[in-house]
Amino acid sequence: MDIRHIIPGCDGGQEVLIKVSGSGFLEDSFLSHSENFKRTLLSVYDGVYMTDRERRIVFWNPACERITGYTAGEVLGRKCSDDILNHVDMNGNSLCDSSLCPLHQSMEKGVPGESPVVVRARRSDGTRVAAEVSVAPLFGDDGVVIGGVEVFRDITEKQKLAEIKSRFLSGVTHELKNPLTIMQGFIELVLSGDTGEINQLQREFLDSALEEGDRFKRILDDLLDFARYEATEYSFVLRDVDLSSLLLQVAGSCSAEASRKQLAVSASIPGGILVFGDGHRLHQAFANLMSNALKYTEKGTVDIAAGISDSRAVVVVRDTGIGIPVEEQERIFDQFYRVDNYLSLNVGGAGIGLSIVKKIIERHGGSVSVRSQPGAGSEFTVTLPLKA
Ligand code: ADP
Repeated sequence: MDIRHIIPGCDGGQEVLIKVSGSGFLEDSFLSHSENFKRTLLSVYDGVYMTDRERRIVFWNPACERITGYTAGEVLGRKCSDDILNHVDMNGNSLCDSSLCPLHQSMEKGVPGESPVVVRARRSDGTRVAAEVSVAPLFGDDGVVIGGVEVFRDITEKQKLAEIKSRFLSGVTHELKNPLTIMQGFIELVLSGDTGEINQLQREFLDSALEEGDRFKRILDDLLDFARYEATEYSFVLRDVDLSSLLLQVAGSCSAEASRKQLAVSASIPGGILVFGDGHRLHQAFANLMSNALKYTEKGTVDIAAGISDSRAVVVVRDTGIGIPVEEQERIFDQFYRVDNYLSLNVGGAGIGLSIVKKIIERHGGSVSVRSQPGAGSEFTVTLPLKA
């Protein structure tokens, strides 16, 4: 049997023919017409393997052998879930169930995976290796999916570096927060009058010092959020998520801040919007967009609306706040970037929230964009692939 396959990413997709025997197992000359392509697959640094429709391995390159310790002879013809790769997520939950397996999902849908998935794959010695995997289906001559291909990259070193960076950041922020809290405690004590009378001017100065301390704390909290995100960047847990309920929860959790600022919050969210993702991370992303909308709006409304368009979930967070100048709109998603305006200065922050939102949404195969007019308000639009 011949497999016609479009290799994603090769100059817009290169079509190749792969020879597979009738039973779905690899023939000797699996790429008889393309020696170059065969050599490339055999020599690339990333692990590449192919399976038939039942997830039995039909091709296994030397990089797979280097990363997992299994030789081609040991794995060809066996299922990848048979104690070979046996992917689990970063929390140890099995991904081999067909509803969770990225490769199976890709074969079912007949399209490449939306974004790489981080897994822990089993090695021949029983240990596990952290790997970022990308998947795509393989098509037969008649256009029917007859197998799948998975490319996996060992991310052990990348992960270690992220952990060191995150430990350093959270250590530093904790160390800075403790003396700050003590200083604020002393200021409050003086303000309370317990240490003697203070005049009006002294009270105003001390109040300002307290406010500056709060602003500093918000920056440290942002840095802590960032450190936490970096530490767990590789542990997304993907499940079916009821996006409608999640968004209603996010909208509800904003009511206290909204009434403190006398802003009206409205939510227009139909039931039944389901996506496949990490509910905790998605909550974090939408809570951040809502919190920004409240932070950068002094009067008017903050709305969150959801719907389905072109087979994607679409969520819009809209406010009537200070808006963002056109030339800044691209950059606000960069790490540590803040627009230079009086509200940004007053509320405090480290310019991290939107960069995390972008990372989370893109990790789900989605997109986030902004439209805004200074003085009139901003509109952030998120799209996410629906559950298959
Ligand atoms: P932070 O709010 O901590 O500064 P973010 O990454 O969340 O960090 O946002 C980056 C910048 O984008 C903010 O400093 C602010 O200037 C601008 N911004 C974000 N959301 C809004 C909004 N809804 N309205 C106006 N400006 C916004």
